[in-house]
Amino acid sequence: MHFKPVPDYHMHTPRCNHACGTVADYAEAAIATGLTEIGMSDHSPMPGGFDKAWRMDRSELVNYLQEVEQVRDTFSDRLTIRIGLEADFHPGTERYVEDMIAAYDWDYVIGSVHYIGDWGFDNPDCIQIWDTWHIEDAYAAYFDLVAESAATGMFDIIGHPDLIKKFGHRAPADSQTVQQAEEAMLQAVLKSGAALEISSAGLRKPVAEIYPHRRIISRAAALGIPFAFGSDAHAPVEVGHGMNACLTELNAFGVHKISSFRQRRMHMLSITHA
Ligand SMILES: [Zn+2]
Ligand SMILES: [Zn+2]
Repeated sequence: MHFKPVPDYHMHTPRCNHACGTVADYAEAAIATGLTEIGMSDHSPMPGGFDKAWRMDRSELVNYLQEVEQVRDTFSDRLTIRIGLEADFHPGTERYVEDMIAAYDWDYVIGSVHYIGDWGFDNPDCIQIWDTWHIEDAYAAYFDLVAESAATGMFDIIGHPDLIKKFGHRAPADSQTVQQAEEAMLQAVLKSGAALEISSAGLRKPVAEIYPHRRIISRAAALGIPFAFGSDAHAPVEVGHGMNACLTELNAFGVHKISSFRQRRMHMLSITHA
C-alpha cells in the first residue's frame, strides 16, 4: 500500500530544553523527506513552575511565534507550516492554558498528559516511582486524566494517548479497570470532537510501539474518532519518522482519512492515492 504524505503536527524547538534544530531545519527536513505540511507544537509555558525544566518560559512564547511565522512565510511556496502548541493537561492549570490559547490565532493545540499528580511518569528520572504503583492503577489514573483533558474541550488533538506505556510497563490485557478507563477516555474524546494522535514516538522508546495501542486504534476507528499524525520530533532527523507504519496501522482498521488543521478547524485528508 502506498500512502500519501500526511501532515506531521508534533515537533519541538530548543526552547523546551530537550530538543534541537531551528524551525527552518525542521522545515528543510520535512521537504527532504517528501512532506508537504508540518506543524510546530513546542511544549507550552505552564503556570506555577509546573515542569519548568522541560518547556519554554512564557517570555519565550513571542519569540517562538515570530520564528514559526517567519519560517512559514519563507517556505510558503514549498511547504505548508501550521502553528501549534503542545499544552499540558494538569488539573488546576486549566484557566492559564485557556487564556494562553485564547491569546493567539493557533492552527491547533495538542493537549497532553505527562503527569499523574506530581509524578512525571514519562520522565526517566522518575522511573523508580513505578515501583510504588500497581501498573493497572497507573494506567487507569492516566486514562482518567486524558478523558478529563478531552472533556475540557480546549484541545484539537489529544497527544500520544497511551504515553503511560513508554517504558514498557504493561497492564494485564484482561484488566477490567484499564479497559473501562480506556473506553471512558475514548468516549470523552469522541464527545469533544478532538482528533486522537497516532504517534510514532513510541517506536523510538523502550516500549517500541506506536501510541496508542492497536486495541485503542481499533476501538477509536469503530467510534469514528478522527486521527492526527505526529512524530513528536525533538530533532529534525525525526520529522515524519514512522509515518508509513502509523498509516499502515490506520488503514488496517479501515481508517482512510486523517485530520489537518487550520485556524482550529479540522479538515479530513485522504491517506491513500485515489
Ligand atoms: Zn518533549
Ligand atoms: Zn508529549
